[in-house]
Amino acid sequence: MDVIDQILPVVQKPARYAGGEWNSVRKDWDGVDLKVAFAFPDTYEVGMSHLGLQILYWIVNGRPDALMERVFAPWPDMEEEMRSRGLPLFSLESRRPVRDFDILAFTLQYEMSFSNILNMLDLAGIPLMAEQRDEKFPLVIAGGPCAFNPEPLAGFIDLFVIGEGEEVINEFLDAFLEAKRRGLSRQELLFEALKVPGVYVPSLYRVHYGEDGSVLKVAPAVEGVPERVTKRVVRDLNGAPFPLRPVVPFTEIVHDRAMVEVMRGCTRGCRFCQAGVLYRPVREKKCETVLEQAAGLVRNTGYGEISLTSLSTSDYTPVRRAVKALVDEYARQGVNVSLPSLRADNFSVELAKEVQRVRRSSLTFAPEAGTQRLRNVINKGVTGEDLLKTVSAAFREGWQAVKLYFMIGLPTETDEDLDGIAGLAGEVLALGRQAGVPAGRLRVTVSVSSFVPKAHTPFQWEPQAPLPALKQKQAYLSGKLKGRGLAFNYHDAGLSFIEAAFARGDRRLGAVLVNAFKLGCKFDGWSEHFSLSRWLEAFRRAGLNPEQYANRRYGYAEPLPWDHIDSGVSKEYLGLEHRRAMAGLTTLDCRAGSCTGCGLCPALAAEPVYAEA
Ligand code: SF4
Repeated sequence: MDVIDQILPVVQKPARYAGGEWNSVRKDWDGVDLKVAFAFPDTYEVGMSHLGLQILYWIVNGRPDALMERVFAPWPDMEEEMRSRGLPLFSLESRRPVRDFDILAFTLQYEMSFSNILNMLDLAGIPLMAEQRDEKFPLVIAGGPCAFNPEPLAGFIDLFVIGEGEEVINEFLDAFLEAKRRGLSRQELLFEALKVPGVYVPSLYRVHYGEDGSVLKVAPAVEGVPERVTKRVVRDLNGAPFPLRPVVPFTEIVHDRAMVEVMRGCTRGCRFCQAGVLYRPVREKKCETVLEQAAGLVRNTGYGEISLTSLSTSDYTPVRRAVKALVDEYARQGVNVSLPSLRADNFSVELAKEVQRVRRSSLTFAPEAGTQRLRNVINKGVTGEDLLKTVSAAFREGWQAVKLYFMIGLPTETDEDLDGIAGLAGEVLALGRQAGVPAGRLRVTVSVSSFVPKAHTPFQWEPQAPLPALKQKQAYLSGKLKGRGLAFNYHDAGLSFIEAAFARGDRRLGAVLVNAFKLGCKFDGWSEHFSLSRWLEAFRRAGLNPEQYANRRYGYAEPLPWDHIDSGVSKEYLGLEHRRAMAGLTTLDCRAGSCTGCGLCPALAAEPVYAEA
């Protein structure tokens, strides 16, 4: 404890490690049977913006027999201090070493945080490899979107939870406690945990490789282990636990506001989007539930902004009613209401005006592709006309800044599609001028990321464009997107390349991760820390080529390393969607009333839940 207090004044942003925030929970260590450390493998500011953390923290600390404390990846300056003083990774609440907990639970939001997981295990004094850990060490578990292709992390994680954590956590903790009471060994405990649907224990599966090195299958290595693990979903969000007293940080974080999740899932079916598959089916909360939860959050946090979060909030059926009621209630208190993502097709300027009654910022749209042809390929159900109409109305209503998100390297992309991005940006700028936005204030920001093929999507078979091609596309756009009022930024293509290798990686990539950790890779999602040369060296030392994972077209009939993980959406449907993409055919949203046969509802015995408008 003394050492931590000595270190904090000399590191950047000590509030990242101090704990003691409003609504944080510090329970009596000896008064509970089960101690869980929730580990977010990125900075405090990123992790504390994650609603999933707050939900699980609320659930576990709501149990009388358990506690959950938080730990984040220390920034390199803090890590240096910790290592030089022999201070192990510690939790924020009790400042106890993470290795003293029963369970260490990582959330996997992004492939480029994998190196931080290894670094955190090492800092905690916990052996990296699951097979080297015995009963002295916490059980290391993981969940989140990247658990849907868990194989690159299979050697490090004892057990994955596939699907929505709040559906599984209590069953799993009960099983763990029972195993602990019965004095079961670690191995026996892992077997017991298999009784909880949605649990995947990678050490109980063996990967079979073909002569050419391709993955033939990931199959049970022992009897009694399920062939496939199907994701878990919450059926009704209205009754699901929701944190009404979330932890409020002392320091500014990425999403520094009260978050009410209005719905989960999105059936729009953009063909590159993994979240759209993983979080199916759509489940909307009743408007009344949203209003009650918002009231609780404002009362218990003191935040000046309520964000209505989801993958596509303007699709939330009662969005107008919810926004109007919230603005009416909170505007006089100076509490702002925000919608994180807007669609240009169904989004109305009236709704935006309502939302921005308190404060007016820039509007963000994601057309993703520059031409209608390519937007049809990716099934982005928005037309250029819709976008221009909406933007034009927004400029007339007083907005002066618009952000546009695009992707490059999408399947079938040509130069014409890149020209389309520049063309759309130019048209938006011209509309701003026509609407009389002063030249010094008018701003159109074009943000471009590189397409990364993700497991469980219709584009899972597609290659990523080779790295030199991605760089060339960026340079091409950079030459076109110049001029007063235009800003252009793009993501590091090298980073997207390594992300693509891991997104479709198999178990062999564990060796690459160990090499990368030894070479000092960490915070790879941060371009100032990412080093492509170190990652290439890590692959080289493992005798693997990242291009074989990122830039290869996978065959329809080829077994995929994540085939044993069942998202509920059938592989046949994904293949059909891929073929439709190549034919330029769009697929309508099942929200419109007709099921497109993705397979999820029958597979999970679940169905979409829509609220009344
Ligand atoms: S099975 Fe049909 S209704 Fe259910 S999510 Fe898929 S497309 Fe929609």
